[in-house]
Amino acid sequence: MSINETTIRNAVVTGASRGIGRAISVALASAGCSVIINYAGNAQAAEETASLCREAAGDKDVKILVFQADVSDEAQANALIDYAEEQLGQVDILVNNAGRTKDGLAIGMTAEDFDNVIGLNLRGTFFCCRAAAKKMIRKRWGRIINITSVVGIHGNAGQVNYSASKAGVIGLTKSLAKELAGRNVTVNAVAPGFIDTDMTAVLPEKAQEAILSGIPMKKCGRPEDVANAVRFFASEEASYITGQIIGVDGGMGM
Ligand code: NAP
Repeated sequence: MSINETTIRNAVVTGASRGIGRAISVALASAGCSVIINYAGNAQAAEETASLCREAAGDKDVKILVFQADVSDEAQANALIDYAEEQLGQVDILVNNAGRTKDGLAIGMTAEDFDNVIGLNLRGTFFCCRAAAKKMIRKRWGRIINITSVVGIHGNAGQVNYSASKAGVIGLTKSLAKELAGRNVTVNAVAPGFIDTDMTAVLPEKAQEAILSGIPMKKCGRPEDVANAVRFFASEEASYITGQIIGVDGGMGM
């Protein structure tokens, strides 16, 4: 599925060096988008994502570039979006995927660990949305896709910071969708369940088994499963859909 048969769309994907962000970048490149691959510290992994994107794009005339930025920092988030506009001429698609966990029970959680997770997952999403929305409004075309989580809807013991950040992303998505709807900019979110990435690989085996047993489909998802939903939201086919949260979770969120 291509995003648009005639126009090359320009996408920015945050946290795209690994995991779900990498799969999203590859899916968008294979659909004919130019992609800015953002990462925080892992330059080599970001370059690997870029190679995979170029391979997936084949002979399509797209640009694939990497850009280091800590998107929890307002100035760096702005710099990322400015870089995308400078290099590609316009930001059409923004995928806010960068995220982190710092798990622990609430009664022992430090303010630093709470703020740190909110700072990237929620504030970082806000900074990138705000910077990109200004540019999309001018062009009267845009797609913003935020990556939230099933725990932002249902909560999860040991993740008050993370689930609060992801619930915040849902509220942000719906509010921004209302603000931008009249400008032909859609804002949607994807809520993954348990996906096989570095983020989940660090969980103890027993915890992984417990999560798996609670998934109706009895298996974890692949980053590509999430990427397919993102690609749909970015496409022309989704042009009349905004403010929606789609679960990619094997039934976990039912
Ligand atoms: P991951 O494998 O841990 O990858 C995290 C990515 O975020 C990396 O590319 C990392 O870059 C980047 N990143 C970290 N801090 C950053 C910062 N300050 N600024 C910019 N980029 C930063 O994570 P994942 O599992 O793919 O998760 C991706 C998203 O899906 C997250 O928002 C996560 O909360 C959400 N999610 C994941 C699951 C799951 O089961 N995996 C479930 C629900 C939701 P470096 O490589 O440079 O460190």
